[in-house]
Amino acid sequence: MQKSGNAGPAVNGNSRPVIINDRWCKGCDICVSFCPKNVLERPEGGKAQVARVEDCTRCGICEIMCPDLAIQVAPAGDRKKERSGTRGGSVDGK
Ligand code: SF4
Ligand code: SF4
Repeated sequence: MQKSGNAGPAVNGNSRPVIINDRWCKGCDICVSFCPKNVLERPEGGKAQVARVEDCTRCGICEIMCPDLAIQVAPAGDRKKERSGTRGGSVDGK
C-alpha cells in the first residue's frame, strides 16, 4: 500500500469510494486532471474510469470539479455508497 499523505486514509482494493455515472460523464477529463493521486483515467474518446482505487484518499476533489455531477465520493465508512456501483467503481445506468 502506498502512503496516503495527509489527505486522508487510503482504502483497500475491495471498496469503491468513487462512483462514476457513465450516463452523465461527457469525458471532459477534468476529474482526471485534478485528482492528486492519479486514481482516474479516461481512454481515448471514452468516459472517466476508476483505475487505481487503492490510491484514492476520498479527498472529494473529483466530485467537486465534475461539471456534470457524474462523480460521487463515498465518505469513509459509508459501505452502502461504496457498494452501490458496478464494474469496479463505475455506474452504467442499469
Ligand atoms: S469531470 Fe465529470 S464529466 Fe468530466 S470526465 Fe470526469 S466524470 Fe466525466
Ligand atoms: S476522491 Fe477523487 S480526486 Fe480524490 S483521490 Fe479519490 S479519485 Fe482522486
